Amino acid sequence: MYKVLSLGWGVQSFTLAAMAALGEIEKPDVAIHADTTHEASWTYAHAKKWTPWLEEYGIVVVVVVANHEKKNIIDKWGGMQLPAYTASKNGDGQIRRQCTYEWKIKPMRQWIQVHRNNKPVEMWLGISTDETLRMKNADVKYITNRYPLIEMHMSRLDCAKWLHKHQLDIPKKSACTFCPYHTTNEWRQVKQLQHDWSEAIGVDTMIRHARPPQDLFLHPSRKPLEEVDFRTLEEMGQMRLWDEECSGICGV
Ligand code: SF4
Repeated sequence: MYKVLSLGWGVQSFTLAAMAALGEIEKPDVAIHADTTHEASWTYAHAKKWTPWLEEYGIVVVVVVANHEKKNIIDKWGGMQLPAYTASKNGDGQIRRQCTYEWKIKPMRQWIQVHRNNKPVEMWLGISTDETLRMKNADVKYITNRYPLIEMHMSRLDCAKWLHKHQLDIPKKSACTFCPYHTTNEWRQVKQLQHDWSEAIGVDTMIRHARPPQDLFLHPSRKPLEEVDFRTLEEMGQMRLWDEECSGICGV
């Protein structure tokens, strides 16, 4: 069995890599990071800091990237990779996501096919107990997905606690700077970093008229990113009731 850890550099996959490094779980044969080349700055910074540490503890870290044409957001045939939101006079919709397969799954599998020596593959995925809906079987016979955090009954918070206990950095969620699945809070984090925000604005502008007669947007409000209000309710001047009404019983 060829054991592969899918290393996205988010909290969960980094926890698995670090647990393997420190001997709390067995080591995978390889930890593969499929770099979309559009990851948030904090993900690249985290990877740069912690890759040498993992390698020092015997984890083999490999980075794979999609081939040049597929790396583009709009491919040369006009295909849109992102699950962008569409708006047209006939109604709103969303484009089918292709980026995860083209930028992550496919380059990872291409690398694995070359290196697995025909062994079956056990793919370790960093899905925690609070995300069980994301568990599924691989769609190819030679790969069996495995979920070590689920086996250890660990939630995302447990992972963060484990990293904290071992004095390791707790990474922010890993995703492309312009991911249409960002929550409001994630957009706010992107907006704080000039490089990441500029990239997201650039992509949002670039895709707008890529699929006429629809307009395409990165944000579900179907507004240009620069016009979206990412403020919290407090920042918009609405009062938070918790502080006044909660006496330490609710929401703790
Ligand atoms: S993070 Fe978002 S944009 Fe990037 S590959 Fe995944 S789904 Fe696509």
